[in-house]
Amino acid sequence: MTCTVFFQSQGANIYNSASDFTGGNACYLYKGTVSASRKQNDLADKELVLAPHKGFIPSKIWLACRIRCLNNRQSTKTCKPKNSWLVGKVKCGKCGYALTIRKSKSKWGRYFVCSQTGSNCTGAGCTIYADVLEDYMLGAIREKLSEFQKLSCITDAEKGQENLTKKIRLTHIEEEIEELLSKMSEAGSALMKYIDEKVSELDAEKKALQEEIIAEAVTDTDGKLKQITNHVKAWETLSFKDRQSVVDTLIKVIRIADGNIEITWNI
Ligand SMILES: [Zn+2]
Repeated sequence: MTCTVFFQSQGANIYNSASDFTGGNACYLYKGTVSASRKQNDLADKELVLAPHKGFIPSKIWLACRIRCLNNRQSTKTCKPKNSWLVGKVKCGKCGYALTIRKSKSKWGRYFVCSQTGSNCTGAGCTIYADVLEDYMLGAIREKLSEFQKLSCITDAEKGQENLTKKIRLTHIEEEIEELLSKMSEAGSALMKYIDEKVSELDAEKKALQEEIIAEAVTDTDGKLKQITNHVKAWETLSFKDRQSVVDTLIKVIRIADGNIEITWNI
């Protein structure tokens, strides 16, 4: 059942009714006729049909893997240790494209530049030395983790309550959407426009909530954070790969423009 919520939250069209999902069967995912994208990560308008046979991978494991893939950086394959463990996470705040590493023979060594410089972008507006940014990010990560440890005193009961509140809100949203849609048939054009906007607004909130609920159900946040905190304490001894995976777990994206650094966290 959680799997269907996941596919819904990613915008896939599900052909079976909710009651068909009894929790044991596999699924087929098709590109379908509406989807504009061949990308495997983009599930919008892909078509999901329940398979007649039992599934091989338990849904909890499948989801945990899928969510991990969604959070992965884009350019892992091309990223070598001599670059930076931040490559793939840092974007130009002006054009949104990736910042890539260049090397100079000066004492500053590596620095980041917008990959679109010279074509579609005038650059991030400042020189971004990799050493300086890495130091800054390590500091920011340490600060975030200590902040989080204070917060993690929240008891399980409180977490359960929070989860319940989300689920109740989700039900309310679904009811609201249904009610709005039922008014469609007799609505004039002004009202139609209002309903349309309101429904997409509610739909966006619904998707965000579904994603949160799934992420909570499949990830052991406390255990993971303990592991990461230990990793960060031993930062100097960590391998390049482990540093990357710490960054992947904690950070969605870092945008830089004109000396401003904006970090979007996963936690
Ligand atoms: Zn740029």
